[in-house]
Amino acid sequence: ACSGCITSAETVMLEKQSLDEFLSSINKGKAVIVSVSPQSRASLAVHFGLSPLQVFKKLTTLFKTLGVKAVFDTSCSRDLTLIESCYEFITRYRQCHLTTDEKSKLALPMISSACPGWICYAEKTLGSYILPYISSVKSPQQTIGAIIKNHICQMLCIRPEDIYHVTVMPCYDKKLEAVRDDFVFQVEAQGEKITEVDSVLTTGELLDLVKSRSVDFASLEESPLDKLLANAAEGGHLYGVHGSSGGYAEIIFRYAAKTLFGKEIVGPLNFKTIRNSDFKEVTLEVDGETVLKFALCYGFRNLQNVVRKIKAGKCEYQFLEIMACPSGCLNGGGQIKPKAGESAKDLIQSLELKYMENVTEADPLENPIIKGLYAEWLDEPGSEKAKKHMHTEYHPIVKSITSQLQNW
Ligand code: SF4
Repeated sequence: ACSGCITSAETVMLEKQSLDEFLSSINKGKAVIVSVSPQSRASLAVHFGLSPLQVFKKLTTLFKTLGVKAVFDTSCSRDLTLIESCYEFITRYRQCHLTTDEKSKLALPMISSACPGWICYAEKTLGSYILPYISSVKSPQQTIGAIIKNHICQMLCIRPEDIYHVTVMPCYDKKLEAVRDDFVFQVEAQGEKITEVDSVLTTGELLDLVKSRSVDFASLEESPLDKLLANAAEGGHLYGVHGSSGGYAEIIFRYAAKTLFGKEIVGPLNFKTIRNSDFKEVTLEVDGETVLKFALCYGFRNLQNVVRKIKAGKCEYQFLEIMACPSGCLNGGGQIKPKAGESAKDLIQSLELKYMENVTEADPLENPIIKGLYAEWLDEPGSEKAKKHMHTEYHPIVKSITSQLQNW
């Protein structure tokens, strides 16, 4: 979504994120861990006529045959990002509504941060006025990287520098996200630099791997899942939140309604379509007054409209789930393309149905793996440790005089 703003240093880093690099890392004796996104699972499931669970089990077989040590699931780390986002929203809401100074009034709207296409656009095009509104919570991709390289490595008795962590994503911009300096850390002062995510493969590149090895994917055996970081229940089914781009607006809305206004919302939220199917809003009324107003805003045209309103101080929303791609992440540029004779619209409909096929809807706050991560490592949502490992910051990119002159 944002390929127009790649620097030459980023180009060099991106060239390293290839199938060849991934395969050679296994041969170099690194402990390779792969984290698969639920959108990629859905894309492969539609392509091969399987369920997301079957795809996940067959991918586990494929990767382990190649020598991969573990195969994880980013819907698990997404639950952690959702919990941190809920707490950040409540903090911002109270700051905005319970204090009188003008600066605190700028705590809202809060804007989701999981889409690197949007972040890249905001940093390189919109400038510093928009960045304070963007949630400081890392994306599910970076969160799972931080969990693996800071915590899981200790459980597995592997040094973080000996792990090569690959994600499978619906999106090329996730490669750009993985090479940000903000997602590199050092364990010791003079130690090696550790990257949370060493390489990103798109769903399409994974399909290329299947084809290049002449693997009959649908006939592969189904291996047991690595349950350390996967939303897979004992009964053998997958669980997670609804929402093909992460369900940020929905989960934060329900949490805020309960925490701030004592309203438990049962059943689906009533999202109203505004202008087009990629712009929807949901409201909560208490005593005839609208107290919460959130929006989903997908695609560049919609996000540019909403950004104009924020700049003019006329945005009526308290939370915005912004995604650069029309229809969100299921429709990412790295997904498998429609088959001959299939329209893009038909494919996205199939993906939306497939995404939650036999996946049980579950509250992130009840995720036993995430509860364990807080108990063993992060203490509690919003803690100092959570801020250190699960949050980040954004940087306005000031264009050099030369590039401004070139544009001019
Ligand atoms: Fe990537 Fe598109 Fe999803 Fe943004 S909306 S994270 S650009 S797939």
